[in-house]
Amino acid sequence: MTSNNSETANLWTPDSWRSKPLKQEVQYADQEKFKASISKLARLPPLVSPTEIEALKHQLKEAGKGNAFLLQGGDCAELFDYCSQEPIENKLKVLIQMSLVLLWGARVPVIRVARMAGQYAKPRSSPIEKIDGQEYPSFRGDNVNGFELDQREPDPERLVQAYFHSAATLNYVRSIINSGFADLNKPHEWDLSHVRCGAVREEYQQVVNQLSNTLDFMKTIKVIGGGNSSSQSLRSVDMFMSHESLMLDYESSLTRCLVDPNTGEKKWYNTSGHFLWVGDRTRQLDCAHIEYLSGIANPLGIKVGPTTDAGDLILLLEKLNPKREEGRITLITRFGFELIEKCLSTYIKAVQESGHPVVWVCDPMHGNTEMSSAGVKTRHFANIMGEVGRAFRIHSVCGSKLNGVHFELTGDSVTECVGGSMELEHHQLNDNYQTYCDPRLNYEQSLDMAFLIAKYYQR
Ligand code: PEP
Ligand code: MN
Repeated sequence: MTSNNSETANLWTPDSWRSKPLKQEVQYADQEKFKASISKLARLPPLVSPTEIEALKHQLKEAGKGNAFLLQGGDCAELFDYCSQEPIENKLKVLIQMSLVLLWGARVPVIRVARMAGQYAKPRSSPIEKIDGQEYPSFRGDNVNGFELDQREPDPERLVQAYFHSAATLNYVRSIINSGFADLNKPHEWDLSHVRCGAVREEYQQVVNQLSNTLDFMKTIKVIGGGNSSSQSLRSVDMFMSHESLMLDYESSLTRCLVDPNTGEKKWYNTSGHFLWVGDRTRQLDCAHIEYLSGIANPLGIKVGPTTDAGDLILLLEKLNPKREEGRITLITRFGFELIEKCLSTYIKAVQESGHPVVWVCDPMHGNTEMSSAGVKTRHFANIMGEVGRAFRIHSVCGSKLNGVHFELTGDSVTECVGGSMELEHHQLNDNYQTYCDPRLNYEQSLDMAFLIAKYYQR
């Protein structure tokens, strides 16, 4: 059996992170209950397989070469409550619709990765939250504690609940995707009535019409060709699952030594999701999260923000991808509309000089959060789109290419971000503000984003 990192092959185990400094640690009062939860998790079957994980890595390799585009999106904090038919269907619907628009615009395959079926744990800037002058432990995500004030004590049983909610979500995703759900989302049935400006609505409608015609044409060819399996491929789509690798007790309990179907080699896989990323607060080189991630074979994301040192980033790449495997590392930059202009090129140049193969993705959400006059966290659609536009341009100027985007979004008509073609205003934020963490693009704003990115490609 090999760990991913040959230099540390003899030292790395799924638990070797325990000897390193751990950020965002959760303290459980009841250690017996904690141990029981961990040993239960260790016995439960994998949620995803090496075949699927390696397939995603292969697709990401193509993205890194500019032959595919990554669309990653979902909630900031997934709740156990979202494990229900409608929220799951709505999220898949928006991701599939966005991916079709992007496919039309970019003319390359779109890789869909949902922040879903495990995106339960949240890093917090402070472990304490003050409400009406009283201090409470912060809400750290459904797999740690509850949002209700009387449920803020970490409960290890929630780790096991996280597994079962992930399993139920994944099961429903697989079942509807294999039952023609993608085909049911016919572009000519999309509702564009939210677009306030007539000219913009007309422009979107033209894209949708062209998309519908293309899909109909493809179906006709497939029918004439009699290819059963290929016409099937229009009905079903790939959908991969991802989450932040934050709760290492959970992640390491679901880490299994399994055969890589491509090489026949045994490797350590995290079987709780296809793709894992390390957050901006936990990516220190010598700390526990990077130690854990260095030994698993899954494709990994690294959040890169204005506080990342470019030299440290190269050391991280060396540690997480010493064999320089293509598709292994996705760099998810999150600078904000203002800072991307002065930051991004430095990192692109450092990575180019290092020769490391990476997939470049723009997360235009996390550098653009602000407090609204309504007293809630929000983000401006214009800043989000602006950061994506700048990412495309800066990559191009540097002789690089943006390979994907990463959004916080939901398939529901929430009111959390302002702007977009529905021109949502600050005073409307309280109409349907649902998020328990960061503000997400709603269904309409998400579709807008896809249309605008597609348009970017038409220039
Ligand atoms: C997130 O993706 O929800 C998040 C916390 O991002 P970051 O680590 O980049 O702040
Ligand atoms: Mn977030």
